[in-house]
Amino acid sequence: MRRVVITGGAGFIGSHLCDRMLQRGLRVVCLDNLLTGSADNVAHLFSNPRFSFRHYDVTEYLFVEDEVDAILHFASPASPIDYAQMPIETLKVGTLGTHKALGLAKAKRARFLLASTSEVYGDPEVHPQPEDYWGNVNPVGPRGVYDEAKRAAETFVMAYHNAHGLDTRIARIFNTFGPRMRRNDGRAVPAFLTQALAGEPMTVFGDGSQTRSLCYIDDLVDGLEKLLLSDYTRPVNLGNPVEMTVQQLAETIRRLTGADSPIVHQPLPVDDPRRRRPDISTARRVLGWEPRIPLEDGLARTVAWWRDGGPHALVPVTRRADEAAVAALAPPAEEVAVPEGDAVG
Ligand code: NAD
Repeated sequence: MRRVVITGGAGFIGSHLCDRMLQRGLRVVCLDNLLTGSADNVAHLFSNPRFSFRHYDVTEYLFVEDEVDAILHFASPASPIDYAQMPIETLKVGTLGTHKALGLAKAKRARFLLASTSEVYGDPEVHPQPEDYWGNVNPVGPRGVYDEAKRAAETFVMAYHNAHGLDTRIARIFNTFGPRMRRNDGRAVPAFLTQALAGEPMTVFGDGSQTRSLCYIDDLVDGLEKLLLSDYTRPVNLGNPVEMTVQQLAETIRRLTGADSPIVHQPLPVDDPRRRRPDISTARRVLGWEPRIPLEDGLARTVAWWRDGGPHALVPVTRRADEAAVAALAPPAEEVAVPEGDAVG
């Protein structure tokens, strides 16, 4: 493999993938329209002659000159706030954008890796989620634009694999965190970090007993690389099976930052998954992969980066914000203070 295209390469995960592929000696073409990403994430690569950045919307006609050996399709808003604000863009990049990226892979006879998501399982009735679980998704709920776009994306990938013999991979990525997450993307880790380091109250939705399992970015990139280099074409869960409650996560971040912020509770957003944990038996068996970095270490590294002034300035959302959709995800309500150290779950 010599030259790869990374769509969404200026985003959180995509920029780490750019780093890794360059470290492996490959040439990298990063295609990104900076909808939710930032050039800051790849600014350190601009002087590398093996790296090129193109401001490009992958839902449009997609052309890349010369040979391409692999296309890593990571372009898509990924946080609930982003896809609530940009529902059409999210649907388009997951469906049309995937179609265009697959067309480019077909033309170049390139390997194709899709960044899918645990959201294809929706609010799962099976726990933990193995790859053969078909999911429980509400197509008209606030998360439908993302979940259904990614489900369609997987279907597109399998159709190109079956109809055109395209060499494809599908990574079902579970919650990932680490440096270069955006401060304002609405996800738990950056929200808690921002609040704790500012000495503000930390907001937990619901009673905090809902669980998350969080994978540190370096582990995820290891898994993606192993998947890309494997010959396994069925979906593979990549995530950390260690589960913790959101309340525990808030308390851990508070401890690691040394903050004394109170933890306050707000009502649970609509369709917020109660439990999320990957079954990573396939990744263990097929890729010999599992996360290696303990959660606290990953959080400590992220805190250090954050303290260093890490998150770049807020990414301006230039498109119309759909206030109603955002409100549906996080309805405003009275804050309820929870006594110090009163862990739930
Ligand atoms: P991100 O928002 O940081 O990165 C997405 C990138 O895609 C951004 O740089 C954005 O500008 C770009 N983009 C969006 N629409 C585009 C378009 N039409 N044309 C070109 N570029 C476009 O998000 P992320 O967390 O890095 O997620 C990357 C991928 O991984 C996404 O496909 C997401 O669905 C998937 N994923 C992420 C997580 C996670 O925990 N972060 C979990 C599951 C799946």
